[in-house]
Amino acid sequence: MATRRELLKRLSALPLVGGMFGTAVASGQVSSAVLSAPARDLFKELGVRTFINAAGTYTAMTGSLMPEEVISTIVYGTSDYVNLDELQDKVGERIAEMLDCEYATVSSGAFGAMTIGLAGVIAGMDTEKVAQMPDLTGMKDEVIVQKAHNIGYTHALRNVGAKLVMVETAKELEKAINKQTAMLWFLNANVEQGQIKWEEFVALGKKHNIPTFIDCAADVPPVENLFRFTKMGFDLVCFSGGKGLRGPQSAGLLLGKKDYIKAARLHCPPRGSTIARGMKVNKEEVLGMYVALESYLKKDHKKEWNLWEAQIELIRSSAAAVDGVKAEVHVPEQANHVPSLRISWDNSKVKISPDDARKELRMGHPSIETVGNDEHIGITTWMMKPGQENIVAKRLKEILSAAV
Ligand SMILES: *Cc1c(COP(=O)(O)O)cnc(C)c1O
Repeated sequence: MATRRELLKRLSALPLVGGMFGTAVASGQVSSAVLSAPARDLFKELGVRTFINAAGTYTAMTGSLMPEEVISTIVYGTSDYVNLDELQDKVGERIAEMLDCEYATVSSGAFGAMTIGLAGVIAGMDTEKVAQMPDLTGMKDEVIVQKAHNIGYTHALRNVGAKLVMVETAKELEKAINKQTAMLWFLNANVEQGQIKWEEFVALGKKHNIPTFIDCAADVPPVENLFRFTKMGFDLVCFSGGKGLRGPQSAGLLLGKKDYIKAARLHCPPRGSTIARGMKVNKEEVLGMYVALESYLKKDHKKEWNLWEAQIELIRSSAAAVDGVKAEVHVPEQANHVPSLRISWDNSKVKISPDDARKELRMGHPSIETVGNDEHIGITTWMMKPGQENIVAKRLKEILSAAV
């Protein structure tokens, strides 16, 4: 891992950032002593284990690593005061331009986007209603969700005070609509499991004049998804900032209809008497999210995909070289759409359980985190630092060979 000193050295080598630091130091905002202070290895000091992330974008594993331009942006953001609303307005407008949608705002993650989005839909610009929430007396208070889409994250909707109404078919959905229906909510990751697909869902919303919201938290890549669902007609779309976009881990994007997003912002800081006062996005994160998105859009996605494929193939062939081991590459259709490896084996030939093999990967040096269960080990390489695939391939082979 780059030490802080290395990072600062690299940052100041970048013309723009060098300039930014220069200005900040010259104006006394950041003392040069601070910038040249010896780096502290805080994870080590605290005794907190760091690891190679061969698992993916998991909150428990602190999501993704921000690229240098995002980190330098965050440092830049610390150098001055601005008006929070003005910054959010300007950044929201730019993001909407970049993603060719009506409007956008930086939220506190995809989860926060869901809460403020629904709150905006329900209360509109009525500040009395905003203050009354989460008591929804006199307001629409039902959100229709397909049963197969009802994973834990729907709690973000219940935070507003709303009730979830479960349906399975389009017919049931239409029957469930009544004067209390505020919104229809869709989980992109589970489109296959649900009976109502995207276009029909959007059409049902339009037919009954009820806004539709799609949760796309883990749905970049592919980059096209950033444009696809607003174009398709969903009124609101959210993405996690700290997954594939590699922005700040606690940031996210809420995209879509201006009226709803303006209304959603009424629940956010600096306003205090609101349900989302705790879902603050600081100026550094707002800027970081903006630059992360910019970087992501500019990226050579094909090249990145080829790299992931080569890394996965390296690990696959290393594991499969052990007699009795099966290693298969797959790409989830929706959510975490990246080359992924599933490794399993014949237990009579390789005498260790996948759980124990994962434990050994975790206990080794460096420690390696994977996903999996009693049946298999799951690996992705997109959250690794370049080169770490070699360590993972080697360790995996060592552990599996030792059990033969
Ligand atoms: C990760 C995730 C969320 C939460 O996203 P945050 O950006 O961490 O708030 C919500 N929905 C789905 C489907 C997710 O995968």
